[in-house]
Amino acid sequence: MTSALTLASTAFLAGCQKDEKKIVTKEGEIAKRKFRDLDIPLLGFGCMRLPMKGEEVDMEELEKMVDHLMSHGANYFDTAYMYVNEKSETAIGKVLKKYKREDFILADKSPIYKMNSQEDVRKIFDEQLKKCQVEYFDFYMCHNINANTVDTYRKVKMYDELEKLKKEGKIKYIGFSFHGTPEILKQVVKEHKWDFCQLQINYLDWDIVKAKEQYEIAQAENIPVTVMEPLRGGGLVRLSEKALAKLKEQNPNVKPAEFGLRWAASRKNVITVLSGMSNLQQVKENVETFMHYKEMTPEEEKIADETAKVIQSQGEINCTGCKYCMEVCPKGINIPATFALYNQYKVDNRSFGFKMYYETLDESERPDKCIKCNLCTKNCPQNLKIPELLAKVKDEYDKLKGMKR
Ligand code: SF4
Ligand code: SF4
Repeated sequence: MTSALTLASTAFLAGCQKDEKKIVTKEGEIAKRKFRDLDIPLLGFGCMRLPMKGEEVDMEELEKMVDHLMSHGANYFDTAYMYVNEKSETAIGKVLKKYKREDFILADKSPIYKMNSQEDVRKIFDEQLKKCQVEYFDFYMCHNINANTVDTYRKVKMYDELEKLKKEGKIKYIGFSFHGTPEILKQVVKEHKWDFCQLQINYLDWDIVKAKEQYEIAQAENIPVTVMEPLRGGGLVRLSEKALAKLKEQNPNVKPAEFGLRWAASRKNVITVLSGMSNLQQVKENVETFMHYKEMTPEEEKIADETAKVIQSQGEINCTGCKYCMEVCPKGINIPATFALYNQYKVDNRSFGFKMYYETLDESERPDKCIKCNLCTKNCPQNLKIPELLAKVKDEYDKLKGMKR
């Protein structure tokens, strides 16, 4: 006999499955996905790399970008207190002012580094509303939860204050963005009733830096995901010749940015994919991708995996990600992930990105735990001097440890 509980959970799951992949299309607009009372565009504007003129935001270019997005139904804007040297909220607020509030969706994030008490949460929230020239945020996040910030979030009772703001109608949905280890994520998802979370998801990080594991933790709690860094800060656009050849193996016309964005958008329960666009040209190209959006085919998924492996094998450290070393390492060091982070850093030169990704490794798996037993080197088909290379990556991280964005 089918129990009431089974029936209820079947109905619940059926509801989730119906919405999580449902694409809403309207004439002249990009693809959207249902989330509660909203139709969310699959392409969101990540406002962390705004067009600049010297030290200031290029407002003329930004307005053109926003107008193009809005005229194609791409009305999701994701800012944060700290973005663009704390200038992003003011800039995007100014440009969005000419639109009716109900016509755009605005997401913002808390600057935990400025908070010592629950009172600070509200004080800063009010400041953010003013900067953005709005009365409420559709989405609001505890920004950058990780090993260093998680306890401060708890101490200032951030979630409790956000719940109050939600009841007052100043926030529609509460979430968090995450840059920590899967272990911390497992705690965080259970601590509160989150409406959504923001994770770093792209086809290169999927296996290498446990993006898949993080995504699955959110899935297990049925928390919808907004995606950040779908193109790994441009690293998946500026591909090497060899990686590009692999990507084009099946379809010579494929464009790296389009491929990466579609890959991220094709994960179940992803409600939007944020792209940190910096000029009108990028906006136009990305809008085009989502005007004709198609989910990834199984063949394309395979190409994505293979391209990730090519990228991984091409960096300064010639590691192919085979993981044979990990079969013998008594300390469980995540050797391929460590090398992949370093290789990407050497390509994109983004120190903060390297530091942030490094900190997503479990502390127990980091290079500093290596005891130099050399068991791994005997298993490495590439004959890499693994302990020395781990030490090199660790030194690089140590130089950047205290760095703030
Ligand atoms: S040398 Fe270091 S990384 Fe290699 S097996 Fe020993 S502890 Fe693990
Ligand atoms: S065995 Fe060598 S090539 Fe394979 S993952 Fe380990 S370090 Fe990389």
